[in-house]
Amino acid sequence: MKTAFENYLTELEKTAELMKLDSEIIAVMRKPQRTIIVNFPVKMDSGKLRTFTGYRVQFNNARGPFKGGIRFHPNVNLDEVEALSAWMALKCAIVNIPMGGGKGGITLNSKELSREELERISRAFIRAIHENIGPDLDIPAPDVYTTPEIMNWMRDEYEKIHGPSPAVITGKPVDKQGSFGRNEATGRGGLFVLQEAVKALDLKDVKIAVQGFGNVGFIFAKLAHEAGFKIVAVSDSKGGIFDEEGIDPVEAMNWKKTQGSVVGCKGKDITNEELLKLDVDVLVPAALENAINEENADKIKAKVILEMANGPVSCKADDVLHKKGVQVIPDILANGGGVTVSYFEWLQNKANKYWSEEEVNEKLKEKMVAAFKDVYDLSCGCDFSCDLRTAAYSVALKRIERAIKDKLEKQG
Ligand code: NAD
Repeated sequence: MKTAFENYLTELEKTAELMKLDSEIIAVMRKPQRTIIVNFPVKMDSGKLRTFTGYRVQFNNARGPFKGGIRFHPNVNLDEVEALSAWMALKCAIVNIPMGGGKGGITLNSKELSREELERISRAFIRAIHENIGPDLDIPAPDVYTTPEIMNWMRDEYEKIHGPSPAVITGKPVDKQGSFGRNEATGRGGLFVLQEAVKALDLKDVKIAVQGFGNVGFIFAKLAHEAGFKIVAVSDSKGGIFDEEGIDPVEAMNWKKTQGSVVGCKGKDITNEELLKLDVDVLVPAALENAINEENADKIKAKVILEMANGPVSCKADDVLHKKGVQVIPDILANGGGVTVSYFEWLQNKANKYWSEEEVNEKLKEKMVAAFKDVYDLSCGCDFSCDLRTAAYSVALKRIERAIKDKLEKQG
């Protein structure tokens, strides 16, 4: 199976060829501008020292400061962080915010660490990379297994060195200069995209299965349920549940909070693999990369895949799904709501003026509807078979190309 970064490169080359993009700009987009790897010791609760490895990849800043989350996961590695940082650059261009792409991560299993250990690791990571981030340079945010509280520890550590700088990190708690609506933004943005797709593709009585029940998957499921869509299956790392009559995501989350998983909550217990193959209208992978791959792609029955995770469909699987007529709404469009509201948080921090939740959600909707339209119109307007991912890459790459050329012109 290809790695995440290889998947990115394959799609980059495919889009460049189909859309006849400038080969010099494509060469720029093949490599990150800068890669930072740090190894740092942290004192564990036992009193012993343990060395952790952390990454920050600054992929491209032609359109603005590097922007992207920090992931805590045992599988974090350079290839993954590079791919995630490249997708961030494309995502910021699609939702049309003046930010570039970056991403970070620390290789660790947060489930095995105490809260105090996580805090010491978060602070030590910021001490190791503080010179490479900043409110106008590179602005981290939450991702898998990182939370608003972790963002606040990181911001606090940065401020110990550089003084007050709330705009250095987004996704902070609301009472610590975070933005209303940031926690829900990725899921809400996905719902806005889904609502546009349902209209464009004329889908009726939509049944949805959601893989991954964390920040993104749960909030998406909750908001989609409230908007009248039927959620028939959800899952987390331990397995899932299926109920033809529909699942209330809040009920499933309350169960997960006490039992450690959604398994056993309602209906029939299913595996993550079974969830992917359910006969639903919309399948929402909201966990990790390559969940849908060459081994299971031909068994997918959904009409639409809404990629709320980053990179959940491998390149080979993408080809299989395209041939089967499954519409894949790509991650760089579907989950762009998170970075959009992160940008809104950054704007509010800079102006020291705070918006209401309604204002945030309204502005988010405008951005996501416009992004869907730009991508969908391009995919329909092509005189060859162009899937939504290729159209999305094309929209983004053309905007980044313009910014790179403008910058170079200014440099003379
Ligand atoms: P999270 O840590 O809150 O949740 C991850 C969820 O995935 C958990 O429910 C976990 O149990 C589940 N999971 C882990 N491994 C699994 C497996 N093998 N099978 C099924 N479920 C599994 O993370 P999150 O913030 O919700 O991020 C999920 C995805 O969305 C990631 O790909 C992330 O990069 C992407 N994303 C997140 C944001 C954001 O704002 N948090 C923004 C854009 C994209």
